[in-house]
Parts: sequence; C-alpha cells; structure tokens
Amino acid sequence: MTKLATEVVFTLNNHTKIPALGLGTATPSEKNAETKEAVIAAVKAGYRHIDTAWYYGTEKYIGYALEELFAEEIVTREELFITTKVWPSMHSNPAKSLEQSLQDLGLDYVDLFLQHWPLAFQSDEDGKPSVPRSADGTILMDPQGDFIATYKKIEDLYKHTDLVKAIGVSNYSQSFLEKLLDQVDVVPAVNQIELHPQLPQKALCDYCTEHHIIVTAYSPLGSSGAPVTKLPLVQKLAKKYGVNENELLQSYHINSGRVVIPRSTNPDRIASIVRLAELSQEDLQALYHLGEENPKRYICDPWGKNLDFQWWD
Ligand code: NDP
Repeated sequence: MTKLATEVVFTLNNHTKIPALGLGTATPSEKNAETKEAVIAAVKAGYRHIDTAWYYGTEKYIGYALEELFAEEIVTREELFITTKVWPSMHSNPAKSLEQSLQDLGLDYVDLFLQHWPLAFQSDEDGKPSVPRSADGTILMDPQGDFIATYKKIEDLYKHTDLVKAIGVSNYSQSFLEKLLDQVDVVPAVNQIELHPQLPQKALCDYCTEHHIIVTAYSPLGSSGAPVTKLPLVQKLAKKYGVNENELLQSYHINSGRVVIPRSTNPDRIASIVRLAELSQEDLQALYHLGEENPKRYICDPWGKNLDFQWWD
C-alpha cells in the first residue's frame, strides 16, 4: 500500500507532535484570498499542518477556512497543527503580534510560534511599515533591537501562557543558534529554513539534529515557478519511484526526519502531492550532492545578508 506523507508525524523536543507535511501559505498578496480554498482542500486531502505568519496577510483567510471546517465537523482544532511567526517589525512585542494572529485565525492558541528572523526592524508599535527603508532603500534596523531579547519574550509566552504549545525560530544560521542556545532556557523546537536539493545546508541541519531542533524546509520547490521540480535528477528519481516531482522533493525531507511545507493554492495539486516515496540512501546522497556541487538559494531577501548563511547573494 502507498505510504502517505500526510500520515507521518515527528516528535518535537517538548514531546508535542508535528505533522511532517504542512501547507505553506506565503502567497503573493493578490492571491491571499485563495488561501481559504487551499486550506479547505488541504484538510480534505488529509493535511493536518498549516504554516502561516503575521507577515503573510493570509491568516484571516485561514481563519475563514477553519471556521467552515470546524462547523462542518471535517476536522477538530485538536487534530490540526498551526504555526505562526512574529516578524522583525514586531520584535519588541511578540505578544501583540500573536494576539493579532490568533484573532485573525479565530483560534485561542497556536501549536508553534516562531521568531521569523533573528532581526529587529525600526517600525511603529503596530509593526508598520513591515519593511522600513530609508530614502536610499536601505533597510532600517532598530538599534535597540536584540534577537535574543525577542526570543526571551517568546519564551515567556511559552512558559507563562497557554497561547503557544511550542516555540522555535526561523532563518537562524549555526552561529546565531549558538549565541541563542548560550543564553536561553527553552531550546527552540524548530528552525525553519530554506532547504531543497540545491541548498542542502547539511552542516546546519546536522547541528540542529544534535541539539534536538527539528528542521522545517521552506520553499522546498524553489518558490514560485517551482524550479527545483525541473532538475533532471529530480525528474529521473520521481519516475524511478513512481511519484511526481513534488512528492519526490517532499520525500527527500521527510525521509531525512525533516518537516516540509510546500505552498500551493491549486486544490487539484494540493490533493495530488501526498504520496511518500522511500528513497534509498544512495538516491538521498545523490540529491544532497546536487546542491553541494552547485548551491543555489532562491529566497535572497536583502535583510538576510548578514546572518552568516552560506551562499547568500
Ligand atoms: P514553494 O517552494 O512551496 O513553491 C510554491 C510555488 O510552486 C507555488 O507558486 C506553486 O503554484 C508552484 N508549484 C508547485 N508545484 C508546481 C509544479 N509541479 N509545477 C509548477 N509550479 C508548481 O514556495 P514558498 O516560497 O511559498 O515556500 C513554501 C512555504 O514555506 C511558504 O508558503 C511559507 O509558508 C514558508 N516560507 C517560510 C519562510 C520563512 O522565512 N520562514 C520563507 C519562505 C517560505 P500553485 O499555487 O499554482 O500550485
């Protein structure tokens, strides 16, 4: 019988469970409203994990979807795993960011609350503008900001409220994780980073595993246009295992103990990418080598430049 990626679950370092396949929802803004139908299609296809963020502008559409799914008793809140994140423009007040997210989602807790980037932008108390720039386009960092202080506020939410079941980080390189782990009590449950065969970031993944931090792979297809699905090796292995390219790329992560959060707003596609291939060690290694020999990062936001990541343009 075909194994399903939607049925694989990993255990986080605080013993809560995370479904290995999640639906990504960072859509271009003109497609944000399509997220409602995407979430409904995903849940009906068996997904139990939705990844979102304060920054994406999709939380209220996810909220509409959840309201409908709960009312029709298709799924219960407890069966779902919802992740949201605090953006650097809200670095000084993660509690406020979370409150807005919960309100839009129509929920009273999230399963995972992430620090979106280890950065602090100079914005107003509502987090506006979300990416502040000077007249010459330079991003305005908040000199008072400190990524560890933000994480400690997230830690407080975890320790002292019921609003978040687990906490973690995103876009942390190894050196930033080392600094963080030195100074905090709660080891992040997750580090969410760009990951696919063209960007294997093996040393960072190994470091996370050593420290009981689950890696979540974002932009697993290389983002819009899904360029990673077009690589000859990916196409060849998809044929070999009798799955499509999306499923092959998702299996590459899940077989390695990583969570993966592909995005789609196409209900047919969402339902057709749930099979899990069991890749041989040899094929997994071949996929890793692809990126080691010729690395490529697709999400090169300018604010990520000084975070000690390899291969940042
Ligand atoms: P993905 O790598 O998941 O690619 C999604 C795009 O690929 C969509 O436009 C989709 O179109 C298209 N697509 C999917 N399959 C195919 C195919 N077979 N052929 C052609 N096109 C295809 O992109 P994301 O960058 O969105 O990453 C996934 C998620 O990761 C995000 O949505 C977000 O939740 C998270 N993320 C987190 C970040 C962070 O900083 N923590 C940064 C970036 C992403 P269609 O809708 O038509 O299916």
